[in-house]
Amino acid sequence: MVSVYDNDKLELFCRKQGIYDHALKRFRAAYFKKGLPEEECLANLTESGRAIFREQVGLTQLQLAEQHDSKLDGASKLVFVTAQQERIEAVILRIDSGRTSLCISSQLGCSAACAFCATGSLGFTRNLTAAELLDQVVLARRLLAAEGRQLRNVVIMGMGEPFHNEKAVCAALECLRDVRCFYLSERHLLVSTVGVPAAMLHFVGHYPKIRLALSLHSARPEVRARLMPHGGAAALAKIRAALPALTRHGNFMVEYLLLEGINAGPADVNALIEWLAGVKAHINLIHFNPFPGSTFKPVTDAAREVFAAALRRAGFKVTLRRSLGADIAAACGQLAGSSGASQGVPS
Ligand code: SF4
Repeated sequence: MVSVYDNDKLELFCRKQGIYDHALKRFRAAYFKKGLPEEECLANLTESGRAIFREQVGLTQLQLAEQHDSKLDGASKLVFVTAQQERIEAVILRIDSGRTSLCISSQLGCSAACAFCATGSLGFTRNLTAAELLDQVVLARRLLAAEGRQLRNVVIMGMGEPFHNEKAVCAALECLRDVRCFYLSERHLLVSTVGVPAAMLHFVGHYPKIRLALSLHSARPEVRARLMPHGGAAALAKIRAALPALTRHGNFMVEYLLLEGINAGPADVNALIEWLAGVKAHINLIHFNPFPGSTFKPVTDAAREVFAAALRRAGFKVTLRRSLGADIAAACGQLAGSSGASQGVPS
């Protein structure tokens, strides 16, 4: 079986089977770019070509099991299932400006165990394959195409730590940017990580135009270690040492979740400014979405403004990030493999 995402192998396979290049090109345009239903995509092939594809080409394996549409905003949580009935979540974000983004998952569960994140509380089950990452995009794109919407951004920011599944994530990025497949602008792709320096350095070397976001959440080692068990002093020092190389291309962002009484005071903002000294980074301040069982609380809007103002005075570009989909457990940190209550902040 040859994967529909394995471009070179698929082309070789089609040539051997007598399927013309132009027919494959039309199939791919329908499948990846236009987001048409599978049968309409296959209609671009001859009858024998369709039979060959059905039997010998691995098309989308995930099934869309549930769709939860927010009543508050333009978010939809999509729950996909594997053949083994494992649940994978992705979120469509329809922004007021007309732009549409998709947040996809890279793992089933996560071993990073961040204290504020529901996914982290699930533990780690397994890495998703590149095909499972890309199936999320194909199926979401079909839904959006039926609405007459184009998919603009894909962010790997859902369940899991992408750089703990580096090989599959990089293979998926190749396909997302490939002119033969999705052909999305590299500037509209983003990977978010808790900070895996070796993988991050490799990433910026190979993908200098793709955006990279670091889930920092505190520059104080003792505070960060409380929030992220593997993220204390040693991890912070390694990430800091890599920052000059990571920020060289201007696509680097810092994600900072503001938690009342934990990381949002004057000492915290000063530590952040000091930690980022000399570095060009865009800082996203994120609102915390409480969930049952969580002891963390969001800060007030006023406290968030004070924190942001201090960063701006220090010369940083700051965005106050609004989370969509809080009512359907699809906002930042609420993905937990269930359709139930709100949960944590995936990287
Ligand atoms: S925040 Fe990201 S890295 Fe941390 S536990 Fe959640 S999904 Fe994993």
